[in-house]
Order: sequence, then C-alpha cells, then structure tokens
Amino acid sequence: MTITLQNISMKFSNTTAVNQLNVTIPKGELVSILGPSGCGKSTTLYMLAGLYEPTDGAILFNGKDVTKLTPEKRGIGMVFQNYALYPHMTVLQNIMFPLKMHKVKKTEAKAKAIEMAKLVEIDHLLDRKPSMLSGGQQQRVAIARALVREPEILLLDEPLSNLDARLRLTMREEIRRIQQALKITTVFVTHDQEEALGISDHVLLMNQGELMQFDVPQNLYDEPNHQFVASFIGSPPINYFEGEIVSGVLKTPFGYDISFEAPDQPVQIAVRPENLYLSKSGLHREVQHVERIGKDTLAVIGTDEDKIRLFLQKEEHVEVGQVIHVQANQADIRIFQKSGERIYV
Ligand code: ATP
Repeated sequence: MTITLQNISMKFSNTTAVNQLNVTIPKGELVSILGPSGCGKSTTLYMLAGLYEPTDGAILFNGKDVTKLTPEKRGIGMVFQNYALYPHMTVLQNIMFPLKMHKVKKTEAKAKAIEMAKLVEIDHLLDRKPSMLSGGQQQRVAIARALVREPEILLLDEPLSNLDARLRLTMREEIRRIQQALKITTVFVTHDQEEALGISDHVLLMNQGELMQFDVPQNLYDEPNHQFVASFIGSPPINYFEGEIVSGVLKTPFGYDISFEAPDQPVQIAVRPENLYLSKSGLHREVQHVERIGKDTLAVIGTDEDKIRLFLQKEEHVEVGQVIHVQANQADIRIFQKSGERIYV
C-alpha cells in the first residue's frame, strides 16, 4: 500500500504540531519518522491511523482518499509504546481478540493466531498471561495481534522504548525481519537515530512540525540538505567551522580555497569526525581529551566553547595538551548558509 501525505497539517488550539507535510511512502517499505521530542512524530502517525483528522490536507492509501475514514475502516495494524495487552487474557486470546471482534469463526481465528504467533516466534507461550512474559515477548504478542487481521499497513509508535538496549537491538532486527517477510508497508516512530537509520528504507526527519528531509539513511548522513539534519544525525556530532564566501571563493580553515558561484556571505563549514585527519599543516588546536570507544579512538581538540572531534587511526597517538594539525578533504566538506540551508558546491 502506497501512503501519500498531501500537504497535511495538524493544529491544536495554539500549537501547529504538523505543518504542511508532503511525502509519499512507497509500497512495502519500512519508513521511520525521526526527530526530537515534540517535533510531531506521533501526531503524524495518529493522522495515518485515523485517530486524528488533519486540520488541512489529505491522506491517500493507494491513491484513495482515507482522510475521513475511521481507524477500523483503514486496514491498519498498530502497536503502541506500552503494548496495551489485555492482562486477563492469555497470549493466544490476546492475538485472537481482533478476529473475535470481527466475528471470525473460532477455529479459523485460532489457526490464524497460531500462524502469527509462529511468525513472531512466541508459539511456545500461547497459554501464558502477559504478566508472565518478558518485555520483548510482550512486544512480539503486540505485533502478532496487530498483524492478525492481515492489515496492509503497520504503524508502530516507539515500540521499543520500554526495552533495554540489548533487547531493543534484537527486537528492531525482528521487526525488520517480520516486515520483510510480509512485505507490509510500515511506518515506525522513533527518536533514536541509530534505530531509524538501521532498519529503514527511507527516513522522514522532522523538526518543529516540518519535514526536514525524506531520504535513504545514507543520504541523511552523507548529504544532509540542512544544518539541522547534519547536526541531528551522527554521534559524535558533526564539527562546524566558521567561514565566509567572498567573490565566489571560500577560504577553508584547512589552508585551501574552494571556488564556486554563490553570493558573498558568512557560512558554516561542516565535517564529520571520521573525515578529519592528522596532518603536518592545516588547522591547529590543542588536544583536550582522548577517549577509547571500543575499536575507535576519539580525540577532542580546541576549547570548551569550540570543540572539534576526530577519530584517530590505530597507529596514531596524541597526548592531552599537545597541539595537533588536522585536515579535511574537499569532498568531505559540507557548507551551510547561516539560515541552515545547504550550499551545494
Ligand atoms: P515525543 O518524541 O516527545 O513523543 P513527538 O515528536 O511525537 O514527541 P507530538 O506528540 O506529535 O510530538 O507533539 C507535537 C506537538 O504538538 C508538541 O508541541 C505537543 O505538545 C503538541 N501536541 C500533541 N498532541 C496535542 C494535543 N492533543 N493537544 C495539544 N497539543 C498537542
């Protein structure tokens, strides 16, 4: 099912939670809605679900306008943050429940529920109550229940936020596996960029109700179209250097100039930590701090107000207090206007 958001907005009395969102989610893809707290992720998902009616714009499923349809009429499955399992029912009864509500015959409902339980690998737990399950198992039950009526769209609202780090990783791989097995168009809300970049075909990155970039994960990282995207994606964060374009020439802090057509203006020059490297010339700063993070060594140089982070090569060693020179290749430099818009060279 292709999902089209046509210029949708959602205004609550004096807040614009979502502002003129235009995006097409391709059939069979897993798309994450990513962004900081309060940016409008859940509101967007609730509009897709039919829980909120947009104050403006239209939502189309396979070209058909569903903007005014109730959640029941949309053919969607939904999993919420807290799973919302029925505590007095067994796993099997929980999964069968949506079928029971739609008056599916009991034998048929049971067979379908068991098939779903197998898909999410909890068919050995059918007689347990939710309180006797781990967080990850409860999550699987919630997914099986959302899928049991064979919806064409699956909506997930921060489904992993109650799980510990290790389980989150397992469950996100599971969600991807299940999604691919069913080829079901899936929209996944998260504020965790690693999660979003890890499992999505496309990511819809929002800020303050606006769409910032809809793209494949690698492009969000390598080709951010706005300074917000460059800063939000990547950990440790991207580095910034002040620069100025004068008569079509940008002097970089690395000792070389870049020429291109652009009006005179101050700019931000951005370079990711893995794209800065030690050299004999270029920008020089004092080493403040050195950190081993697993296989990587991160050096923090500069001052507290103007920190620069770079990864060192295995054989490189620097000492705190030492002054080092760093360089970046022109291909790894991204340039932004003061307004945040990218300047393409
Ligand atoms: P989080 O990651 O914290 O869950 P979010 O990105 O999902 O945030 P939303 O819940 O969509 O953000 O909220 C977007 C904005 O709309 C926020 O400013 C929020 O306060 C506001 N908002 C959300 N729901 C309502 C509501 N029912 N009434 C009024 N304002 C609301």
